Amino acid sequence: MKYLPLFAFFFLIACTQEESIRPTTANAIKPVIVIHGGAGLINPNIVNEELEFYYRKSLETILDSGYTLLEEGMSAEKVVEMVLKMMEDDSLYNAGRGSVLNSKGRVEMDASIMSGDIRKAGAVTGIVNTKNPISLARLVKDSTQHVLLCGDGANSFARTMQVDTMPIDYFITGRRHRQWMKLRQKKYGTGGCVALDIHGNLAAGTSTGGMSDKLKGRVSDAAIIGAGTYADNRQCAVSATGWGEHFIRNVAAYQVFARMEYGGQGLSESVANTLLEVQETGGDGGLIAVDRQGNWVAKFNTDGMFRAARTPDTLYLGIFAE
Ligand code: ASP
Repeated sequence: MKYLPLFAFFFLIACTQEESIRPTTANAIKPVIVIHGGAGLINPNIVNEELEFYYRKSLETILDSGYTLLEEGMSAEKVVEMVLKMMEDDSLYNAGRGSVLNSKGRVEMDASIMSGDIRKAGAVTGIVNTKNPISLARLVKDSTQHVLLCGDGANSFARTMQVDTMPIDYFITGRRHRQWMKLRQKKYGTGGCVALDIHGNLAAGTSTGGMSDKLKGRVSDAAIIGAGTYADNRQCAVSATGWGEHFIRNVAAYQVFARMEYGGQGLSESVANTLLEVQETGGDGGLIAVDRQGNWVAKFNTDGMFRAARTPDTLYLGIFAE
């Protein structure tokens, strides 16, 4: 009898922990992951066979790593971060190493991440030498009371948190430099990831170097929660790519959620209608999304979008329009 209070104490602790993990029907939920590597002028004339081979190989490897981690029980949010780190380290993508250059010939990177369980989010913009901007965005989420840090403040936060940095030259690849020299108006290659984990939590993240030849200080949709990234366990997780100004103006990622939550639309319908609105204001691009039931969508209104998805029953990879 004298141990009863002790027993009650541990019982209470056990219950509290159980609740804070918030798995409803753990292990009954099947993991889903969808990634994009940017949308835009992606057709066989631009992406030749050799480049296509490298993109396919990269998308497959990254998707596979993310899916394996989800199967092992890692949280959707952590997986989104790991996947986007891989994209940032791969110079094929316009994120981290391989980012496009602004009008001054410099790299300024943006990233954001959001976890659907308590709608907590972190984002950074104007990042110049952090190796993995997505991890810095996650640190904003977990180690500050803020959502978005910009420019000097974000870069000094990176120093305070002692994240890995790289010399400026690391980010600028020959391909991006040649591209910048040609002053191409717009670039594809942004990285995005949405995931549903086996605990029933959704997460989304997006990382980009932005648009080629952009003005110094320009902020992309990938840094704006609700525009380029959104996740809410009540409905879905969304990541965008394309002409960021239009995804901001149409609050695109949140719009997908809102159409479902308040308009009763399904995932696919919401994504399609949101893209129509983006198109209406003159924008183009693509969206990837997964809902809490594990349905997923990858849609775009450009020539192509690097995209891949994996569930227990599906393995999908696409580059050009079908
Ligand atoms: N959305 C990004 C931006 O506007 C670019 C992209 O996704 O390609 O910066």
